[in-house]
Amino acid sequence: MKKHNLLMIPEPIEFDPAVLAALGAPTTSHVAPEFIEAFGHSLELVREVFASPDGQPIILAGSGTLAMDSAGANLVEPGDKVLVVNTGYFSDRFAEIVTRYGAEVSQVKAPVGGRPEVEAVEAALKERSYKLMTVTHVDTSTGVLNDVEKLAEIAHRHGALCLVDGVCSVAAEELRMKAWGIDLVLTASQKALGTPPGLALVVAGPRALATFQSRKTPVANYYADWTNWLPVMQAYEARKSAYFGTPAVNLVWALEVSLRQIVAEGLAVRFERHRTISQACKAGLSALGLGQVPQRPEWAAHAMSAPRYPKGINGAEFIAAVAKNGVVIAGGLHPAIKTEYFRIGHMGSVDMEDVLTTLAAIETSFIECGYQVDRGAGVQAALNVSQHAA
Ligand code: PMP
Repeated sequence: MKKHNLLMIPEPIEFDPAVLAALGAPTTSHVAPEFIEAFGHSLELVREVFASPDGQPIILAGSGTLAMDSAGANLVEPGDKVLVVNTGYFSDRFAEIVTRYGAEVSQVKAPVGGRPEVEAVEAALKERSYKLMTVTHVDTSTGVLNDVEKLAEIAHRHGALCLVDGVCSVAAEELRMKAWGIDLVLTASQKALGTPPGLALVVAGPRALATFQSRKTPVANYYADWTNWLPVMQAYEARKSAYFGTPAVNLVWALEVSLRQIVAEGLAVRFERHRTISQACKAGLSALGLGQVPQRPEWAAHAMSAPRYPKGINGAEFIAAVAKNGVVIAGGLHPAIKTEYFRIGHMGSVDMEDVLTTLAAIETSFIECGYQVDRGAGVQAALNVSQHAA
């Protein structure tokens, strides 16, 4: 049995012991030959995990918001028109970031739990000429999954770069950057990439790099400016050292271990594992009578679930009860429905046993909080899915 509470929030997640061991190893110099090798190899592995053979990875010390900031700072110039495909809290954040860099922002929004129809996005792209379009692959505030492949295709048809916030999707949801024509994908270390919080990752495709290189105005963010970082990334990949800011040495060591594990599992197998685990978790929640925030099952992410509380349940009390029963889950985040739902993360090294443990804790906690469920019904429904998939 795990000695700590099982961490089943959308982030950070449970980390593999080998990754944690790398994080806790003695820190090396950032110019030590073995660190140069680990950083260079991590950049190569990032390209593989993002399915972006011609992309330029940039790994910075910072959280996912820095990765978003880096995309906005380097690709937006004052007066640029940006279209935000908005599915919730993190799409709002992208809109704020690009506005800060001077963009004129238009948004296509959907009701909470919905996602903008591809036709509505296309209509917006036809109406005006946009330099770029942002999409949140999985909005962690709603658990809604966007059809990035289709959205990227229409963005290009209308001459806009497609930027994808993959913080809650990279290495969990199918995402093929080059094949789908996505120009930039960003993420953070602490979700399905399986490395503790502290690294911001961006992969810029050829069109995004060309857009950056043809800027007419300087980047209005000193730390995130790609002018400073591209030579550093290129040097490490060529197995040379270079300096702009001290890399998060131990986190990069840990990232390399995690990326090796991801590639060894195989992306197709990994995506399928996340699908099965997600189906099992959602089947278990349905068996307990819970609905989901995403309005349609095919719009729901596989990296997380966002179930609605049954009537009469006090969310804070319930989440505290689940923690007492050994599992940490998260409350709502989207301001419009914050108290109406909770969130379970199931990504990275998560396995079926973790999902069963979580459902068992949820069942027990519901009963303790006065909502009657058939004890074992959720666990059984999840088991049925996993046995069917086996
Ligand atoms: N985008 C999405 C989809 C996220 O889920 C998050 C974090 N939950 C962020 C961006 C921001 O990442 P961070 O908290 O690491 O800054």
